[in-house]
This record gives sequence, structure tokens and C-alpha cells, in this order.
Amino acid sequence: MPRPLIASIDLQALAHNFDLVKRQAPQSRIWAVVKSNGYGHGLIRVARALRRADGLAVVDIADAVRLRELGIRKPILLMQGVNDPAEIRACAEDSLHTVIHSIEQVRMIESLLRRRPLDVYLKMNSGMNRLGFPPSQIVDIYRRLTARLSLNSITLMTHFADADGSGGVAEPLAQFLDACSYLQGERCAANSAAILRYPQTHLDWVRPGIALYGSSPFADQSASDLGLLPVMTFSSAVIAVQEVPRGARVGYGGTYVAPRDMRVGVIACGYADGYPRHAAEGTPVLVGGLRAPLIGRVSMEMITVDLSRLPEARVGSEVVLWGDGLPVDEVARCAGTVGYELLTAVSARVPVEERRGLEDVR
Ligand SMILES: *Cc1c(COP(=O)(O)O)cnc(C)c1O
Repeated sequence: MPRPLIASIDLQALAHNFDLVKRQAPQSRIWAVVKSNGYGHGLIRVARALRRADGLAVVDIADAVRLRELGIRKPILLMQGVNDPAEIRACAEDSLHTVIHSIEQVRMIESLLRRRPLDVYLKMNSGMNRLGFPPSQIVDIYRRLTARLSLNSITLMTHFADADGSGGVAEPLAQFLDACSYLQGERCAANSAAILRYPQTHLDWVRPGIALYGSSPFADQSASDLGLLPVMTFSSAVIAVQEVPRGARVGYGGTYVAPRDMRVGVIACGYADGYPRHAAEGTPVLVGGLRAPLIGRVSMEMITVDLSRLPEARVGSEVVLWGDGLPVDEVARCAGTVGYELLTAVSARVPVEERRGLEDVR
């Protein structure tokens, strides 16, 4: 019998979340963000299922090349642009849209691709201070690109640092619109948080990621409040049950001391599978559909839970670590992180199955 751990991917939930985003931003075209292996859901699987996306956005050019090799003809956006001359050629050959965020990229592209028709996204830094040109340089760079390259299109782009938090988007959005106000071209700014909270950010193109996968970008609003459905359910089973007497310890370091005689369930899933090692005592786990609290340290291949209140639970009982019935965001919070990290950290060795597969997606 194989280890019972599995990640099942619900492509209908993905389609549902896509539709929700589309309803939120009905006037905009959608770059579905599929970076980091489709946020851990499988790049090819989600790219094929997101049929109604207007384009797919990735970071690694290898992902873009793979998508093209599999016959996906949609626009593909390289959100960090190119890193070296070989990538510039691949970019032209596979007709990829590419971000230009630095003067080094401008020079590289000018030296190699003067005559190749290109679709570029000129990125402005609106306060994240990670990638992009400062607002004061946008007009100059825009003019330089349009003068020296043979562009198919040039789109103006920025990325919000705090659309999910208290900072909001007012200042960076105003900066962006102001810096680009005399420039021709489409505009693209909103990530999931901005799409869901700030319609004024929608503009010509939006770039949803996390919302498509059914996790909330907000600390103060759950995915179900937003109407999103979980796409990944990470599940396993109880592989052993221990009767632990009061005062005995559980797990590495003996950090957990049984406050009474208790039943402890051992579950096949550990940090090597992508379960967060920092998950705190009390982190919920579903056993046979009911919540049991995590106890003791997370091991490489196992976790332990208190089954005292679940007399029905036994070896073989089904376990959900997150997904259906247990929001990934809640588990993430208990581990001091966000759903994004848990979804993208599921280990490559974990088998993946599709529930409600492609054939069911409209
Ligand atoms: C990852 C990413 C997104 C999507 O962000 P979500 O918060 O997952 O919606 C959009 N734009 C850029 C530039 C990104 O890197």
C-alpha cells in the first residue's frame, strides 16, 4: 500500500474562482498567474484548465517554453522579464510578452532585438521598491523603447505592495496613473487583493494569482467570505494510534506533555511533504471530517494529533491537512505564514490527483 498522502486538485473549483474574478473585473482582460508551478497545483494542469484566461503569467522562462511546447498559444507574460541573451531569443521565438523593469534589460533587448517585433510590459516601481523604474523615469524609458525597438505593443504596469493591507492602493495607483498619463498603451496593475477590493485598479488587464487557487489574499477576510473555493485538498490518513498516559511526552524534544490519559493519532505527513514545521500546537487537522488539534513537533514524515474527542478515529481514518473543510489560510495562520507559502511548498514527491477534472470544466 502506498503512503496515503495525496494532493487532489479540483479543477471545477479553479474554474469557479476564475469566474468570480471575471465577474469582479468584467471590463478587464485576465492574465492568470501560474508562476511557481501554478502556485503548487501543477503548471500544465492549471494552464490547460484556465481556458478562458486571456493569457498566462509566469516568472521562469522555462515554464513559458514548456507551455508553448505543449501547444498553448495564448499570450504568455514573463513577469520578471529576461535574464540573459539566450532568454531574449527564446522570448522572441515563442512570442512571449516580456516585462522590462531595469536599465540592464533595456540595454540587452536593444542590442539583440532591434528588429524583432516585441510585446513589452514597462514596469513602474510604485513603492514596493523591488522591481521597476521610478515614476520620474517612465516617460524617458518609454520614449527610448518606442524609438529604438520595433514594438508590437507596450503596456504600462505596476505591482502594489500593500493592496491586501492597511496601506491600500490610493497612493501607488495615483502615482502610476500620473506617471503614465501622457503615454499610449494599455495599463495593468491589479493582483488578487486589488481586484477584490479596489475596482479602480482594474484598468485594461488584471493579474490574479492566489484568488484563482481559492486562498484569500487578506488577513481579515476568509476565502469563503469572498466566495472562493479551495482548489487543493491535501489529505492523508491516520497510520497509528497511541494510548498515551498522563504526564508522558509526545514527539521530538518531548515538548508536549499529555495533560491526561489521551489517544494520539499519528498522521503520514511531515515537513518533508510541505507541512509547515512551525505549525503551532492546536493547529487544526480534520480526522474523519472532525477537527483534532496538532500536538508536539512536526516531524519530517509525520505529525501527531490529539484524538481524545474523536473516539471513532482509528488507523486508516481519513485526514485533511487543508482544503475541503479546512481553509489553508487557517492552517497557515497557525504556522505564522500565508496560504501562498503552504500551497507552493507541497513537496514534489507528493502524488497529485485531479478530482472533478478537465472534462467537467466548461
Ligand atoms: C504573483 C504576482 C501576481 C499575483 O499576485 P496574487 O497576490 O497571487 O494575486 C501579480 N503580479 C505580479 C507581478 C506577481 O508577481
